Amino acid sequence: MSTAPTGRSSVWHPFTQMALFDAEPEIVVERGEANRLFTTDGRSFIDGVSSLWCNVHGHGRAEIVQAIQEQASVLQHSTLLGVSHTRAIELAERLPSILPVGLTRSFFSENGASAVEVALKMAVQFWRNAGKPERQRIVALEFAYHGDTIGGVSLGAPGKFRDPYAPLLFEPLRFDSPYAFGMEPGTTLAQATQRSLESLRSLLDEHAQETAAVIIEPRVQGAGGMIVSGEGHLAGVRRLCDEFEVLLIADEVATGFGRTGEMFACNLEQITPDIATLGKGITGGYLPLSATVTTEQVYANFYDENNERTFYHGHTYAGNPICAAAALANLDVFANEDVIGRVQQRAALLESLLQERFGDHPQVGEVRQQGLMVGIELVADRDSRTPFPAAERIGAGVCMAAREHEVLLRPLGDVVILMPPLSIEEDELAQICEAVAHGLDAIPGALLSG
Ligand SMILES: *Cc1c(COP(=O)(O)O)cnc(C)c1O
Repeated sequence: MSTAPTGRSSVWHPFTQMALFDAEPEIVVERGEANRLFTTDGRSFIDGVSSLWCNVHGHGRAEIVQAIQEQASVLQHSTLLGVSHTRAIELAERLPSILPVGLTRSFFSENGASAVEVALKMAVQFWRNAGKPERQRIVALEFAYHGDTIGGVSLGAPGKFRDPYAPLLFEPLRFDSPYAFGMEPGTTLAQATQRSLESLRSLLDEHAQETAAVIIEPRVQGAGGMIVSGEGHLAGVRRLCDEFEVLLIADEVATGFGRTGEMFACNLEQITPDIATLGKGITGGYLPLSATVTTEQVYANFYDENNERTFYHGHTYAGNPICAAAALANLDVFANEDVIGRVQQRAALLESLLQERFGDHPQVGEVRQQGLMVGIELVADRDSRTPFPAAERIGAGVCMAAREHEVLLRPLGDVVILMPPLSIEEDELAQICEAVAHGLDAIPGALLSG
């Protein structure tokens, strides 16, 4: 065998402290099959976070691979700036059939962050076009995450993901997250949800006239630590946006395409946002594509023969035909199989496995779950909710130990994230839980205050 490939002297990894990366064994993936990734040193791992939350039906799904191959031999790329192509049309025609009713106009880009930037520009210009240019502020949730471009980071939670870039950013208005675990002990999810809605109401009471839009990650705040809102949060946010006449942007980049147990999180409470952003799972997790989808009402505000209300935004590869073909094949799988039904069944199984293993584990403060999105919040002591010292990087250590059980995970601080492909098998879910339990056993005893 020739020497094993390594990126140690050439690759700068995203969202990664390279000094810590270099201190760990390097995992080099060369092949994927179903729910597993295979490495150059002959090992394989369950893809426990869906290759960063995007893989939907597992790796190597024949239908999607074939669609990509066929499209690649016909048309590799053609612009959408002033010209159409068949695959973009097909996809834009098809998306409304799975989206909340009323979302009918698709604007394509290549990644989730860009879809959010498009939504922000669309919302602000909507009001300018409507003769209310003073409506230009954005309201976002505490602990929000909407991507890593300047607009997305502006919306994101204060802290290490945001603070270094502060000179480049704008300031959103913020309302409380329904993060019950972070509130006084005894706070129920229903109370936290109510409190979040009350804080949005008081913010809009004061600021609605200067507000363009409220943006939320519907039902699950993903990168904030899988914060699951209570029943009624989505409907409540929608009602308040209606009452105060501000646009609602639902960032479904992480929650879309079946992940929550419904096609979109907005379906959980039957709401239609004014603008939805889609990304990650849209191509089944195979190629970069995203969409910002809106209503005819928003669209109409940009429609003008005098060319004064034009939406000036566009990416070179927006709506690339190979990516769109993958997205269409992804939607075919949803149409041909009861994917959503299987997610609900697997989610119920996962819930009982998690309850059994971690329901009263002394280092598990809380398990939050919606469909196949899970956050396991680790603490030094369950009763007092004492966190581990951040410098100990306990979440990372637990995920590192999980690799010994052939499961690949990536934490968010001390929240262990489980977000397997929707095609995950029952025995694989058991293995993931086993691997996390093994990881918890590996926490140094000296750090336990319980
Ligand atoms: C991942 C994510 C994004 C950013 O998507 P990218 O494709 O990584 O740019 C935006 N919003 C949410 C809610 C996400 O989870």
